Amino acid sequence: MQKTDFTVKFLDLKKINEQYRDEINKALNNAVDSGWYILGGQVEEFEREFAEYCGTKYCVGVGNGLDALSLILKAYDFKPGDEVIVPANTYIASILAISQNSLTPVLVEPDINTYNIDPAGIEGKITEKTRAIMPVHLYGQVADMESINRIAQKYNLKVIEDAAQAHGAFLNNKRTGSLSDAAGFSFYPGKNLGALGDGGAVITNDGELAEKVRALGNYGSKIKYKNIYKGVNSRLDELQAAILRVKLKYLDADNRKRREIAGYYLENIENNGITLPKCANKESHVWHLFVIRTQNRDDLQNYLSGNNIQTVIHYPVPAHKQNAYGEWNHLNLPITEKIHNEVLSLPISPVLTKEEAGTVVNIISNYSAP
Ligand SMILES: *Cc1c(COP(=O)(O)O)cnc(C)c1O
Repeated sequence: MQKTDFTVKFLDLKKINEQYRDEINKALNNAVDSGWYILGGQVEEFEREFAEYCGTKYCVGVGNGLDALSLILKAYDFKPGDEVIVPANTYIASILAISQNSLTPVLVEPDINTYNIDPAGIEGKITEKTRAIMPVHLYGQVADMESINRIAQKYNLKVIEDAAQAHGAFLNNKRTGSLSDAAGFSFYPGKNLGALGDGGAVITNDGELAEKVRALGNYGSKIKYKNIYKGVNSRLDELQAAILRVKLKYLDADNRKRREIAGYYLENIENNGITLPKCANKESHVWHLFVIRTQNRDDLQNYLSGNNIQTVIHYPVPAHKQNAYGEWNHLNLPITEKIHNEVLSLPISPVLTKEEAGTVVNIISNYSAP
């Protein structure tokens, strides 16, 4: 087999944003010329457009995805030590949002097939301190929201979607963000809807919650110099909002391209040693990441890198094995640990070419484990 003389990048952000260069420059010029740089017209318009896109009444722009989740929890005013259920295999930010608010994250194992929180593991973890469930639409696939909402209703819990990896994914024609009480989105550059810097948003149909999140992210104030809460400074940047308004128009088309590549990988990668991702609903998945599993993960990654194919591990160390959560290091979460030991993310993005995807398929299909 022939080694290619070009590198298949894991994610080519420059190429992604270059597509929109003229429109982005124009939007930035307008924002600069407005002379209003914090919470101006661009943020206001983006909030309106993104709420409409998600099919909800409210959107509040915030500084990043972690703050979006954290401010929702802060606005609910739970008591220190109250518990929030979260998947054990999520990115650390979901869990940090909970501990930041002096709440206790309660880890639940994922479903090995979908990598999303396993609803069957939730009820056994509910105590009288449980206040909320925070499902994560991991890798771009919607979590089992019907089961999760049913459990939440039974125990009177809030449901907060971590939708940082699933802009535009949907369930029964309803988009992420509209499938629970409130949702946190991230516009980190690598996300499906990515800014050219940090950004985030809270999405909800709850007007009171939206108003409180807005105040909390703006020093706890609704009227300048009148502080009703001990808030923080976490606002969506005006220039980033101008860029996001451009990119939002292309989000559905970008997600379709991701879906095409995922479909191509699913149909064409043939290797007995590799488990391809499974999805409950192919049309709804937005493929933030295309994550395969194999017992020879590190060897496969070296082999691919030797063949000029970049891959990334999402994520190498689960939260409960991190130094930051030393109190959990003794926990035994076999499914989560298996996932972290075996996963590998292949290149996928709206600008990955057919030729590049073909190279990935050929090289992976020719891999044999040591
Ligand atoms: C990216 C991400 C976040 C955090 O978003 P930031 O904007 O980087 O703070 C939270 N949860 C998940 C699942 C993410 O992937």
